Amino acid sequence: MAIAEQISLINKQLNDSNARLIVVTKTRSIEELQETYAAGALEFGENRVQEMVEKQAVLPKDILWHQIGHLQTNKVKYIAPFVHLIHSVDSLNLLKEINKQAAKHERVIDCLLQIYIATEESKFGLDFAEAEALLEDPAFAELQHIRIVGLMGMASFTADEEQIRQEFQSLADFFQKLKNNKTGVSTGLVEWIELSMGMSGDYLIAAALGATLVRVGSAIYGPRH
Ligand SMILES: *Cc1c(COP(=O)(O)O)cnc(C)c1O
Repeated sequence: MAIAEQISLINKQLNDSNARLIVVTKTRSIEELQETYAAGALEFGENRVQEMVEKQAVLPKDILWHQIGHLQTNKVKYIAPFVHLIHSVDSLNLLKEINKQAAKHERVIDCLLQIYIATEESKFGLDFAEAEALLEDPAFAELQHIRIVGLMGMASFTADEEQIRQEFQSLADFFQKLKNNKTGVSTGLVEWIELSMGMSGDYLIAAALGATLVRVGSAIYGPRH
């Protein structure tokens, strides 16, 4: 099925939820991204810095670029001029570097804390206690060029839907707790708005559990190259 049709189908499925589609464009060609843009999608997700930078340089400037993959501190400078939202903040150290690079461009860069909810060893992220500790760290309150706008999480890679549901629910509960307690809000650097969860295999589950952003690639384009 054509890219435009897939996007319109997914947008229809998300209609009765609060979730917005981030089209995950990693590994896809410039032509495919142009077709995606022509279909009306404006929010693109990439996980490799170099690939995002190369694509951003040649594609229309109104595209909003989401960094969804693990981010190394030494790569932050390349995306700092333009990145719209960084989904994968997993340390105070990384946040300090984002703050430093954002300051150079006189920007405030929006970020999500990536939370570890899966059972697999390989997934990046903070646990709940680490996330709260980061938000309460005095060094955090000094960062004037970042804004934490929510949380991101990835469920385990499993066919067990009940497990996926439980993992997303735990993230949604934690998000609600931070929101209710206004955790970090007094610093002026935090607003609990976005909950990024759900990929091609599980975005409907995530949307039903309160995701505001779903990150979908292969359900639109087919298997990755
Ligand atoms: C690749 C990726 C996605 C999209 O995966 P699909 O299964 O192709 O939808 C979503 N989130 C992250 C963090 C990714 O790396």
